[in-house]
Amino acid sequence: MTERVAGVRLAPYTTLGLGGPAGAFVEAGSSEEIVELVAAADRAGEPVLVLGGGSNLVVSDEGFDGLVVRVASRGVEVAGDLVTAQAGEDWDALVERAVREGRSGVECLSGIPGLVGSTPIQNVGAYGQDVSQTITAVRAYDRRAGEVRDLAAEECGFAYRHSAFKDDLGRYVVLAVTYELAGDALSGPVAYRELASRLGVAPGDRVPLADARAAVLELRAGKGMVLDAADPDTRSAGSFFTNPVLAAARAAELELRAPGFPRWDMPEGAVKVPAAWLIENAGFPKGYRRGPARISTKHTLAMTNPEMVASTEELLDLAREVRDGVLEKFGVTLVNEPVMVGTRL
Ligand SMILES: Cc1cc2nc3c(=O)[nH]c(=O)nc-3n(C[C@H](O)[C@H](O)[C@H](O)COP(=O)(O)OP(=O)(O)OC[C@H]3O[C@@H](n4cnc5c(N)ncnc54)[C@H](O)[C@@H]3O)c2cc1C
Repeated sequence: MTERVAGVRLAPYTTLGLGGPAGAFVEAGSSEEIVELVAAADRAGEPVLVLGGGSNLVVSDEGFDGLVVRVASRGVEVAGDLVTAQAGEDWDALVERAVREGRSGVECLSGIPGLVGSTPIQNVGAYGQDVSQTITAVRAYDRRAGEVRDLAAEECGFAYRHSAFKDDLGRYVVLAVTYELAGDALSGPVAYRELASRLGVAPGDRVPLADARAAVLELRAGKGMVLDAADPDTRSAGSFFTNPVLAAARAAELELRAPGFPRWDMPEGAVKVPAAWLIENAGFPKGYRRGPARISTKHTLAMTNPEMVASTEELLDLAREVRDGVLEKFGVTLVNEPVMVGTRL
């Protein structure tokens, strides 16, 4: 088993480049190691943070006073349409392989950073696809029961950027994920208007898998949403705020403040509002700066640490200013998408 190291700074393990030291840090190279480490820490009453690619984490300047288990288990097994990947596999490498092998279902999720084991946590999604559409099972260590369980997709409580895992964060450690990726040379119906227009097709059309991946990567890079060491706008945790979903009564209130605001209709009169629109119209344009933290110059939803000199608190001060500005102007409370460790918005 890999050794525990004390005092490792977490900043280099996150895409924001933020976060103080870990009480102890260990890399786990297999499911068995992950379970052993987490179970032993639980028995000893030691707090545990499971770390994937660190692309959806905001870690406090004080760090994490406990054991950080970095997931590094590898392996992919294929049985017909079912592809099972260990939690430590790189997500985009799996997508690239699926596209190369002619398997449809995750091509629009190209270029999303992070590891396979994190994809069910917030039901990773983009450009009209999310992993709830293809996940059939999740193997996880249930820390409460002290046993490894195979959860069917229906037990995962998937919703927009949400799941039962995020509801009860820390209870389950994902060990492996099974996706159903049917052999098909074509993408799923292109659901997202911007992607359809980039591909020169109508929404609902299907395109060769490689074309879908290339177009998604291009669109994402244009928004600073593909990690690139040369692009300071990618020193982020992706979208910092989720798109708020307002019940009918709240939507009517917003209509009074912002007649004709952009929206996507949801069941029962609810509407989803683009957080980026709220932010920009509350007076926070792309590139808006507060000290060393900045809104991405390419994407309003990304809070960035462009020169890698901000502290976590400085980044959060920017996010708080944005959240408070939107609340004051529109009466809508934005909620953070990344997971906060040892701090809060
Ligand atoms: C540039 C950029 C673009 C992004 N674009 C998108 C996007 O388009 N769509 C989208 O949905 N997300 C996006 N994200 C967010 C992020 O990439 C995803 O949420 C990703 O799944 C996080 O994976 P990770 O391995 O980095 O997780 P981490 O950041 O390491 O962890 C995130 C959370 O999951 C927990 N966790 C990690 N691994 C496990 C495990 N094996 N078992 C249990 N819990 C675990 C952690 O404890 C933490 O709570 C983007 C991020 C960046 C930086």
